[in-house]
This record gives sequence, C-alpha cells and structure tokens, in this order.
Amino acid sequence: MAELNIPPAPAIEGTTHLHSGKVRDLYEITEGAHAGRLLMVASDRISAFDYVLDSTIPDKGEILTRMSSWWFAQLADVVPNHVISTDVPAAVAGRAVICEKLAMFPVECVARGYLTGSGLLDYNATGQVCGIELPGGLVDGDRLPEAIFTPAAKAAVGDHDENVSYDQVVGVVGAADADALRALTLDIYTRADEIARGVGLMLADTKFEFGARIAADSTRTIVLADEVLTPDSSRFWSLADWKPGQAQPSYDKQIVRNWLLSPESGWDKKSGQRPPALPEEIIERTRARYIEAYERLTGERF
Ligand code: ATP
Ligand code: MG
Repeated sequence: MAELNIPPAPAIEGTTHLHSGKVRDLYEITEGAHAGRLLMVASDRISAFDYVLDSTIPDKGEILTRMSSWWFAQLADVVPNHVISTDVPAAVAGRAVICEKLAMFPVECVARGYLTGSGLLDYNATGQVCGIELPGGLVDGDRLPEAIFTPAAKAAVGDHDENVSYDQVVGVVGAADADALRALTLDIYTRADEIARGVGLMLADTKFEFGARIAADSTRTIVLADEVLTPDSSRFWSLADWKPGQAQPSYDKQIVRNWLLSPESGWDKKSGQRPPALPEEIIERTRARYIEAYERLTGERF
C-alpha cells in the first residue's frame, strides 16, 4: 500500500469534513438550506504511480469539475444524477458541487470497451475479465467484441480496487439492482464513447459510482453519483494514436509519467521513495492537456 500523503483538507465554514481521497475532499453541509447534503471539492492534486504528487496542476480541480458537470448534463436523459447546485462557498468556487447524499452501492461500476490495465492483467492470467470469457489472442489496447461490465470492490484508501464477478455483485446488492447497475453502466459507457469519438477521442474504460435515492414513500431511484467521465475516472485515448499491441499513451498523465520515468527526474520508481516535485514546464504542459481535453469534449473555451 503506497503512502499517499494527502494534505489536510482546509476547514470550510458551515460544513464538516468527512473524507479526503487522492484528489477530492468531501464535506457534509451542516448549515443553511443545503444542510445534510454533500459538498464535493476537487483539488488541483494529481496522482501518478499511486502517489499523490507534491506538485499541483493549477485549475485542474475546476477543469475536472466542469467536465463532470458537462457529462452529467449530456447523460440526463439516460440517468438522473446527484448534482443539486454549483452555488458553493466562495473558497471553493468553480471546483465544487453540492450534491444529494445517497446510499451508495459498494460497487465500482466499470465499463470497458477495450482491453488494458487490470482487465488485461486478468485476461492474461485467466482468459477472462471479471468472469467474462473473451476471445483468445487479444493484446493491450484491443477493442472488445462488445463493451463489458467489469465491477470492482472498493478498496481501502491507497489500495487498488479488486475486480469481482457479476455474481459477487448480485451477492452484495441483489439481482435486481445488479442488473440495473450493469445496464446503466453499459448504456452510459456507450453514449460517452460515441460522444468522445465525435471529437477524435476514445473512451477505453471508465468507472461510475451509483447510489440510491430513497423518497419519503420509500420509492428507490438509482442515481449516478461521484464524478463522471473525467480523466481521473476514465481512460481517454486519442483515436489517431490508437495502436493495439502496446501501452496507449494516457491522454492526461503521460507527460507527468514520462518525465518521472526519465533520467532527468532522478527518481527511481522501484526505490519506494516519493517522486520529486514536477518542473514548471511539465506542470504547464499537463495543465494545457487538461484544458485541451475539456475544450475538445465540450466545444467550450475554458
Ligand atoms: P480515490 O482517490 O481513490 O477516488 P476515494 O474514492 O476514497 O479515493 P473520493 O473519490 O474523493 O476518494 O471520495 C468520494 C467519496 O464520496 C467516495 O467514497 C464516493 O463513493 C462518495 N460519494 C460520491 N457521491 C456521493 C453521494 N452522492 N452520496 C454519498 N456519497 C457519495
Ligand atoms: Mg473515488
């Protein structure tokens, strides 16, 4: 388990801090009209090789918050979402949302249209991903015959999520919800991949988190939560550069990873030591990359 070094979350008036992940800080609102709701704040932190780096990428939190909001709107006819308002405390303006507090399903709902990452590792070991049998001879980056639902169990902070079978999901949430989560995950993936392709990107895989909204009359609705379809939760590749049989460059973090692995950084990945701070030029190029992804997808200027 890597040592994460997540900086302490700043106090925000009228809220209680609940949790900090690698990139985001989660608060519960305790005062005013939104009391009981959540404030989800995206920081400018960036992680690579399982470390939260000492350097931050200016505006990253705002870019990813806007990207996620844009996707929620694109998907509104497919699935309801947890966003209530972007009218947030001034200290976190632009990079936070107020959202409804849901009963979260303890399942990371992953869809894959291409084989890579932990899916590829599973496939190489067993010929399957999350119990789904795949054709033989597939290589890193290959397109799958159809998109697949490859759920994972959420691991403790700093650990990797663990791929699980569909039957295990049924065991945790029941058959009806498992079926609904799978269908939603694949529908959203398919829609998002189509949109990405329209601007020369492709969505290799992505992770969603869903929660249940329980109304006063105890009706339940499955709602899309967390952040969606940002480079932090998804692998976007460039359609023009896609070449199965090798690792595809990561759309957002490749600049950082390449520099960390280069002799210039002086860092040895295997040393177990924390990576060094990033040079200004690497920070600036990475920031430009996030802006480019946002602008390409949304067609809006950042
Ligand atoms: P990582 O950095 O690996 O993502 P993490 O998942 O622990 O770590 P965050 O993603 O920052 O850190 O944490 C956000 C938390 O808020 C997650 O546990 C997520 O399931 C939860 N969450 C997201 N949306 C809602 C919601 N609408 N209601 C309740 N909990 C939510
Ligand atoms: Mg998370």
